[in-house]
Amino acid sequence: MSVDENVKRIFEEVGDATLICVTKTVEPARINEAIRAGVTIIGENRVQEFEEKRDKILPCEVHFIGHLQTNKVKRAVQLFDVIQSADSMKVLKKINKRARAIDKIQMVFLQVNIGNEPQKHGLGLDEIKQVIPEIASLKNVCVKGLMCIPPYVSPEQARPYFRKMKSLFDELKQENRDNIDIQELSMGMSNDYMVAIEEGATMVRVGSAIFGEREY
Ligand SMILES: *Cc1c(COP(=O)(O)O)cnc(C)c1O
Repeated sequence: MSVDENVKRIFEEVGDATLICVTKTVEPARINEAIRAGVTIIGENRVQEFEEKRDKILPCEVHFIGHLQTNKVKRAVQLFDVIQSADSMKVLKKINKRARAIDKIQMVFLQVNIGNEPQKHGLGLDEIKQVIPEIASLKNVCVKGLMCIPPYVSPEQARPYFRKMKSLFDELKQENRDNIDIQELSMGMSNDYMVAIEEGATMVRVGSAIFGEREY
């Protein structure tokens, strides 16, 4: 199937959920095929890779979805509309500082380590409730959503993690602070986006189902 056909099919499948087309390792010409097929938001996971490709990519919204090292925050804040992978208070403070320096309000999602996996980045379930009041003082950051990458298991086995995320999302949506306005729940990738949507995802991040398996 062509990129164009894949994009059109997936748009139909996801219905009202927002499709983030994950373009890491994909060359600009193929990214542009996806944009011509209707994609409006792409997701990249490396600052440098996106910097090298961006001049060749058609206009679109760009979300950062990889682990953000503190030494790349400055460039990330210049480049990305949304940083979906804010995964520690340390990086949030740095994002705030760099956004303030260029007079930007940086949209972020909080990444949740929903499977409590030691090797994975993300805020723990307890941690996230602790950091909310601290984030309220970061005036150049606006929290718009939650994001997770559940443990690498089958779609059905991932379902309980998605469900946990949905209940956290429903709870945190009640937070009413100037810069915390949680509206998006970003979860589900190529193999499990339909299960994620059944469990309440408002946004899915799909790469290989659009472009085929990645070649590194
Ligand atoms: C690569 C990646 C995706 C997309 O993965 P596919 O399985 O190719 O759909 C989604 N989210 C994040 C954070 C990723 O790094």
